[in-house]
Amino acid sequence: MIEATNFIEQIINEDIDAGKVTAIQTRFPPEPNGYLHIGHAKSMFVNFGIAQKYGGKCNLFFDDTNPSKEKTEFVDAIRGDIRWMGYEWAKECYASDFFDVIYDCAARLIKEGKAFVCDLSAEEIKNLRGTLTEPGKESPYRSRSAEENLRLFTEMREGKYADGEKCLRAKIDMSSPNLNMRDPVIYRILHATHHRTGDAWCVYPMYDFAHPICDYLQGVTHSLCTLEFEDHRPLYDWVGVSLGFSPKPRQIEFARLNVTNTVMSKRYLKKLVEENLVHGWDDARMPTITGLRNRGIPAEAIRDFCSRVGVAKANSECEYSYFEACVREYLNANAERAMAVFSPLKLTITNYEGSEEVDFEINQTKEGAGVRKVKFSKNLYIESSDFSLDPPPKYFRLKKDGYVRLKNAYIVRCDDVLLDENGNAKEVLCTYIPESRSGSDTSGIKVKGVIHWVDAETAADVTVKQYQSLLRDADYAGQDFNERFNAESEKIFTAKAEPYLAEAKEGTPFQLMRTGYYKKSEENGAAVLSEIVSLKDNFNKK
Ligand code: ATP
Ligand code: MG
Repeated sequence: MIEATNFIEQIINEDIDAGKVTAIQTRFPPEPNGYLHIGHAKSMFVNFGIAQKYGGKCNLFFDDTNPSKEKTEFVDAIRGDIRWMGYEWAKECYASDFFDVIYDCAARLIKEGKAFVCDLSAEEIKNLRGTLTEPGKESPYRSRSAEENLRLFTEMREGKYADGEKCLRAKIDMSSPNLNMRDPVIYRILHATHHRTGDAWCVYPMYDFAHPICDYLQGVTHSLCTLEFEDHRPLYDWVGVSLGFSPKPRQIEFARLNVTNTVMSKRYLKKLVEENLVHGWDDARMPTITGLRNRGIPAEAIRDFCSRVGVAKANSECEYSYFEACVREYLNANAERAMAVFSPLKLTITNYEGSEEVDFEINQTKEGAGVRKVKFSKNLYIESSDFSLDPPPKYFRLKKDGYVRLKNAYIVRCDDVLLDENGNAKEVLCTYIPESRSGSDTSGIKVKGVIHWVDAETAADVTVKQYQSLLRDADYAGQDFNERFNAESEKIFTAKAEPYLAEAKEGTPFQLMRTGYYKKSEENGAAVLSEIVSLKDNFNKK
């Protein structure tokens, strides 16, 4: 017996115990109308994860019943994103593969008096639907004979009617307390070209009708979906029972993943792309899988996050910082360390001549990661924020007449400061303590501050990109997303980096000492370091 770690697995175990299922089959069912986002990562985690755990199979099922919004571009992107996430599907199928069968299923329901062609407009159907407290009213077309319905449905398919002129509805119960059971529309007329079936069809099944049929045809045992489909389950079951499916797939709903300050609605993400508010679906600020990948976030960290958030029955919102913590944890264990100075201030060691190589630990958390040689010389850059002309109490970085350790190298003393015309420090003049070399320090001097640096002569000029959330935070909550859009969410500047960084392979993540995790890339031949995640949790810091 496999140990259940969430309520879905408990249900599956019960079904196995009761002999209802032997092999587990799930499916991941994206609609190809946009790119996958971090919410889909959870759905993948659940569907692929459970199949894996039970030695079963998970299909990739494209829910393409909405031709006006779906595109091959999205199909291709979705396939790539799933693979990048580390999942592989058993079979790839499309609702459109089954359009013939779904059509025949509808015809069967008509013959059995379980569906009828309705001439009411969408508006009229809505008006007669009733409310949660009032029953709906039956359509005047509800009592059409099976023969008439079949003829009209055939004519619908033949293209005799315009969009919306007629539809096919299931004949269930207009007084059902569940609105989805009040004679729901199961087929509509839509003269649109489908990205796979072209103009072969002008009638398309509705999601609620197509989905249970497609699940059944794929041999899905457990159809795992998000909570908003809970109210649709009676209809899912009605379709299965009415069409005599055996064994009937079982729909189980789980909570959506919601993350603070993160909009996952495809509609909104699409708008950002179409209005050029971001650089594309793969913009590093986007919560899309392709955006996260471009950001340099490892798939392992996303999977780890989904696993830690868990599978629950009730909706809740997860802090974005929790996601960042998972990313940081992964990168801390895996990323090489390196040094870059974002706001360079010259540091000259007046009593040092020539140069030498100092040992730099590649990743102190990783056993056997070893060391790398880094050039040290008389002329360095340090971070301008690591020097203060007017230091507050307990300032342990560099100040006039103060001491600081240059990471992995020597202790230096600041003897003098040169100022620019605005009175800001433009160069600090130091002397170093020769006996204080890291690893063989016999100087006896205790310093509290350790700062990073780069060798001025060999430093590479790199472009740095830093990101903030696309949405301004909680103070703006409740306001329109457009108003919350953070136009300053991307900051670009140049910096000085170890040449090692400029030469690193594209895509390599680094921990820049005391700064954050950055991904090395190249743009027009120039080195770029783009922020993956800050070193510390900036959450709630203004
Ligand atoms: P959106 O509202 O962003 O367009 P969707 O639900 O319409 O998302 P689909 O392509 O239909 O997107 O979703 C494929 C699967 O992923 C569905 O089973 C859906 O329930 C699931 N899914 C989508 N968003 C989330 C989420 N935030 N958390 C968990 N699962 C999700
Ligand atoms: Mg959807």
